Amino acid sequence: MTRVSTESAGAQQTRSRSAILDVVRAAGTISRVELTRATGLTGATVSTVVRRLIDEGLIVEVGRAESTGGKPRTLLRLEPRARFAVGVHLDVAGITYVLANLGGGVVARWRTAGTAGDGPEDVVARVVAEIGDMFSRVGVEKDRLLGVGLVGPGPLSGGTAVTWVADPASSGMAPFPFGEAIEAALDMPVLLDNDATAAAVGEYWAGGIESTSALGALYMGAGIGGGVVVGGVAFRGASSNAAEIGHVCVDLAGPECWCGARGCVEAVAGPAAVVAAARARGVDLGPAGRPAAEDFATLARAALRGDAVASSILEFSARYVAVAAQTFANLMDLDLIVLTGPAFGIAGSLYLPVVTEHLERAFFARDSHPVHVRISSSAHEAAAIGAAALVLQSELAPRPTTVRMPAERHVASVAVPAPGA
Ligand SMILES: [Zn+2]
Repeated sequence: MTRVSTESAGAQQTRSRSAILDVVRAAGTISRVELTRATGLTGATVSTVVRRLIDEGLIVEVGRAESTGGKPRTLLRLEPRARFAVGVHLDVAGITYVLANLGGGVVARWRTAGTAGDGPEDVVARVVAEIGDMFSRVGVEKDRLLGVGLVGPGPLSGGTAVTWVADPASSGMAPFPFGEAIEAALDMPVLLDNDATAAAVGEYWAGGIESTSALGALYMGAGIGGGVVVGGVAFRGASSNAAEIGHVCVDLAGPECWCGARGCVEAVAGPAAVVAAARARGVDLGPAGRPAAEDFATLARAALRGDAVASSILEFSARYVAVAAQTFANLMDLDLIVLTGPAFGIAGSLYLPVVTEHLERAFFARDSHPVHVRISSSAHEAAAIGAAALVLQSELAPRPTTVRMPAERHVASVAVPAPGA
């Protein structure tokens, strides 16, 4: 059978544009010659596309590099203020918002009460109102906003009619089309994704991570999740529910998990399990009935102050999380694991040495390469930053795996003013 290339000139141009934007973003500053080398495109294509990107205001020239013979080379970088995206992380413990610029820099951030106890329609109304408030406060023109990324815990379902449960652990599995409702109310594209996948994309986008990395984000918030970005592309599986590392079994006879399985690492050693163990051992965590994430934070602070019982409970949790990290690294052949999410934002320093030591000893491919483990520099907001990064990435480096928003529609909905216009 003869295979015929069906890629149109338009598709080729889009691909060249994406490749160039992604390389410029990752490099910080770069010359046209280096761009040609890094992308494998011809010098003429790089020249044409760069000229167009400068005209659109997405790239600017920023002085000249030292020459090693020949004439000095003009350096290029992204113009971060050319576009913005809103990231929203829905969680029972709090809704986190960020406004991020094209370079992934956070321009504004704020947090409001969680979704616990609210019906989905209430949550939608609040999110729409709170994003509207932000527009008027920050003063970014709406035509520079690419859209809203909306992420949350719990499984995504439904292909293009993506929905997820706001709180799978406490409200059952009733899905709600948050994305559609918010998109209709804001008249702006909304992308949905899993919070842990978003956190991985956010780390890649804003965390100075090399584009060749096999990155796993191990996310601990209310539960435990994971996201994978390899070579700059998020791995999503069939339905954007990949890398659910919180639901690998670490104890066949362990407790039942809300997901329906038994002995999941989240059920054995996740924040809710840790909090339950602490209360059973008489640790004073304050009044009962708060979200597990808040009790977990109280416990972690006690351990950081040297409380022996709190420390031993978190040490137990860390050993199980380390085994989950090993499974994660072995399955995906990771070379970098970032511990992220609010629980690691507080307790990361207690988990990091246990996870690192375990991987040094037990990672399958350790003779070939190490797995570096580090704590995210924005663990509390990683999912919201990632949500915004998903939107930025869909503009700069559109991938066919984008969950919800078709590329044509996205392009059609975006005005392209030059910065300062
Ligand atoms: Zn489970």
